Amino acid sequence: MSKCYFGWAKDEGIRERGANGGFVTATLVGALETGLIDVALVVKRGASIYEGIPVLTSDAEVVKECAGSLHAAPLNIARILVRYAKDKRVGVPVKPCDARGIIEQAKRRQLNLDNVFMLGLNCGGTLHPLEMREMVASLFGIHPDAVIKEEIKEGKIILQTAAAERRRSRS
Ligand SMILES: Cc1cc2nc3c(=O)[nH]c(=O)nc-3n(C[C@H](O)[C@H](O)[C@H](O)COP(=O)(O)OP(=O)(O)OC[C@H]3O[C@@H](n4cnc5c(N)ncnc54)[C@H](O)[C@@H]3O)c2cc1C
Repeated sequence: MSKCYFGWAKDEGIRERGANGGFVTATLVGALETGLIDVALVVKRGASIYEGIPVLTSDAEVVKECAGSLHAAPLNIARILVRYAKDKRVGVPVKPCDARGIIEQAKRRQLNLDNVFMLGLNCGGTLHPLEMREMVASLFGIHPDAVIKEEIKEGKIILQTAAAERRRSRS
């Protein structure tokens, strides 16, 4: 019988920044600090919520900065892993498509799975950045660049704008 556990980061900063309590980020930080992995392959927010920049780092502080999920940033994590971290012990949060890509690359001897520590993300799919921009404008009537944060909660997409954040902090 399989067991299910709930977990979150003990560090308050990670917990707040993380998409769902920061368990993934805290695990990567712990793995770096204890030497289980040499590097982490994470994703940093770019100029907007529609852009994700892959970051390969051994710095736990950088991993913390990359906490949070970017739902409209499609990235081929397997390809990046093979190209830049092939011979390193790497910790990497993976969507199901990334995990499948990594396993296929390992079958073709492009990397050694013993060196790859995958942390699975419960991903329902990545949104295309241009379609996301269109959806934000047409469905919600918000300028796509006004969105500073997005999250998916219980199947609902929640958008946060800078103006709403200012109103919230004033009240
Ligand atoms: C594209 C996407 C779709 C998702 N869809 C769902 C969903 O439908 N339902 C659900 O319950 N959960 C979904 N998730 C998972 C959820 O958002 C959280 O990532 C997960 O619950 C872990 O939370 P956490 O606080 O422990 O993660 P965090 O501690 O915030 O760590 C998340 C890690 O993922 C990395 N990351 C961010 N964006 C991407 C990306 N686009 N590709 C690869 N890595 C990335 C970050 O750099 C960070 O290291 C999705 C995640 C992604 C990336």
